[in-house]
Amino acid sequence: MATLIINSSAEKSLNRHHPWIFSNAIKKIKGAPESGETVGVQTSKGHFLGYGSFSPQSKIKARMWTFDPEELITPVFFRKKLKLALEKRKHLMFLQGSAFRVVNAESDGLPGLIIDKYNDYLVCQFLSCGAEFWKADIVACLIELFPIAGIYERSDNDGREKEGLSQQTGGLWGKEPPDLIEIKEHDISFWVNIKTGHKTGFYLDQRENRELLSTYAKEKKVLNCFSYTGGFSLWALKGGAASVTSIDISEEAITLLQKNASLNNMPPERITVRCEDVFHTLRKFRDAADQFDLIILDPPKFAASGQSVQKAARGYKDINLLAIKLLTPGGYLFTFSCSGHITPPLFQKIVSDAAIDAGRDAQIVKQLHQADDHPVALNFPEGLYLKGLLIRVF
Ligand code: SAH
Repeated sequence: MATLIINSSAEKSLNRHHPWIFSNAIKKIKGAPESGETVGVQTSKGHFLGYGSFSPQSKIKARMWTFDPEELITPVFFRKKLKLALEKRKHLMFLQGSAFRVVNAESDGLPGLIIDKYNDYLVCQFLSCGAEFWKADIVACLIELFPIAGIYERSDNDGREKEGLSQQTGGLWGKEPPDLIEIKEHDISFWVNIKTGHKTGFYLDQRENRELLSTYAKEKKVLNCFSYTGGFSLWALKGGAASVTSIDISEEAITLLQKNASLNNMPPERITVRCEDVFHTLRKFRDAADQFDLIILDPPKFAASGQSVQKAARGYKDINLLAIKLLTPGGYLFTFSCSGHITPPLFQKIVSDAAIDAGRDAQIVKQLHQADDHPVALNFPEGLYLKGLLIRVF
């Protein structure tokens, strides 16, 4: 097995069980590891730190599988970790419906591996060289652990490029999934396209926030910006919203939103959809002096890297400023950022600046984050990517 010798400055992070080793943390590589192969990790004095997987082309040169010298990285290791991830979620499954995240990558001790379950199908993303290396063994464990009809791969995420891996999608095992799968989120049904939908098909990470929103929606005039297939829109209607306007730039998303509304027999007279750019539509509403009682802003990731934080901050400020101006006095804003590079304090500052520029007072009613089947390992703060604020604007 090849060995990575680590600079003394990087030892602290590994001793605190942070799973990433950046290229500048490596003093020397003993041996010639292949992409994804298991490497030993040591201090320059020869103290063992753990075993990880090697990523030759990434800035993150290795991701740790274990810090235990006795642990062997074999198919048995993956079976144990996958079983553990499933057990950790057993209490959530019956509560939350038929779709949930089974494995949340680094935060479940399996760097680069995402697995979501939609009824009888598992949808996987192999986003690191290590996860890719063990793909066949992971699939074999999943078949053994889950009574499922099929496993589908959605490794078409940007992260693959950073690892030097090509994008891959398609069936990995079992039956080909149908084009649309009907899942249940509590008692609301959604059609999910796991083959071509965003991420693995659905934004499971917003489940709890959608449920919370429904408790604020009664008799409200709601505006759902970046609606995708209508997650927040349907929950608002379920909560008794007087009307819900949904905006998304994607035609497929809007078509599926309408299908989801009919699937749940939602009253068509309360639903308006606009297949438009939110940045433009918010300005149109401002110019027309339109007002809403409750607005949701759940944009895509504006900051893909640390370098784009400033530009992303301007984008978040722009939509938050426009939305705050559109709110009736006492109105609520559910505002989110799923950019890991935008920290919760920075996001709060952006929203606060937006309120000041809009000339409105506001208070935080609740801090929001990703659903609890997307946990964050304490030693991996980067795992907290989705943050949100429920604010009341006066
Ligand atoms: N809230 C949704 C998920 C939103 S994902 C849910 O709970 O399911 C972000 C959405 O923003 C995507 O559907 C994408 O198509 C849309 N989008 C991206 N840029 C946009 C823009 N400029 N205007 C409108 N929609 C946009």
